[in-house]
Amino acid sequence: MTRTVYVNGKYLPENEATVSIFDRGFLFADGIYEVTSVLDGKLIDFDGHARRLARSLGELGMRNPIETEDLLDVHRELVRANDIVEGLIYLQITRGAAADRDFAYPSEDTPPTIVLFTQNKPGLADSPMAKVGIKVISIEDQRWARRDIKTVQLLYPSMGKMMAKAAGCDDAWMVEDGAVTEGTSNNAYIVKGGKIITRHLSNDILHGITRAAVLRFAREAQMDVEERAFTVAEAQEADEAFFTSASAFVMPVVELDGAAIGTGTPGPVATRLREIYLDESRKVAI
Ligand code: PMP
Repeated sequence: MTRTVYVNGKYLPENEATVSIFDRGFLFADGIYEVTSVLDGKLIDFDGHARRLARSLGELGMRNPIETEDLLDVHRELVRANDIVEGLIYLQITRGAAADRDFAYPSEDTPPTIVLFTQNKPGLADSPMAKVGIKVISIEDQRWARRDIKTVQLLYPSMGKMMAKAAGCDDAWMVEDGAVTEGTSNNAYIVKGGKIITRHLSNDILHGITRAAVLRFAREAQMDVEERAFTVAEAQEADEAFFTSASAFVMPVVELDGAAIGTGTPGPVATRLREIYLDESRKVAI
């Protein structure tokens, strides 16, 4: 089946959708993105993603080409047109195509480029990985310093994934000044003595929409949460570890740099949080 995608106000078959070679997303990674998951044909935490989108645009002084209500309609239409029951919706907005390549931003009247497409992922919520847990390596965090903005400059995270693969692992946790910042495409957590520990919010990490929801659910379930940086050694000695993201929800991490974490199997806190997150998110999906 040919996917229906959305480009600058039009729904098109994927092979007819085009963007200019002068687009600043292509030339300068001058663009931002969001990924929203779909469960039961409904959007998970659309409002959270729309709010972060607005923040990313604001931080980069980029014009928002679409009202939130219209954006919701586009998401829903793509879910419908592509028969998505479980999957993801990718959204990207760039500063648009200037007449030529120039480091300076183009004039204000240059229309931003907006693209959305679906990724069909049957079985997303029932991931076999969540039952066995994943293995991570630690790597130095060599990204730029504004990781709170969800830009499309994802080369270093891609390199990190490849380093993990080369080491026979699934992902990499990035380390700066001796402490874990986050995973290549997720927020990182450890559990010690029943306490959930995850790095505090700052410009050093992306403010995960799943992170916000999971911490809220954890607190509602009377779990102890501490937002602070932790080291690789601390993680290796933790009882459990896990990560969160819109596409993987809550994912247990069972090994870090070759050392088993806890029992080397998904722990009770991660397993419970995954269940709570999926149940509660489905209830309020739109
Ligand atoms: N950190 C990074 C670096 C990410 O790329 C992502 C996912 N895009 C996350 C954290 C998780 O954010 P969210 O829960 O909003 O998907």
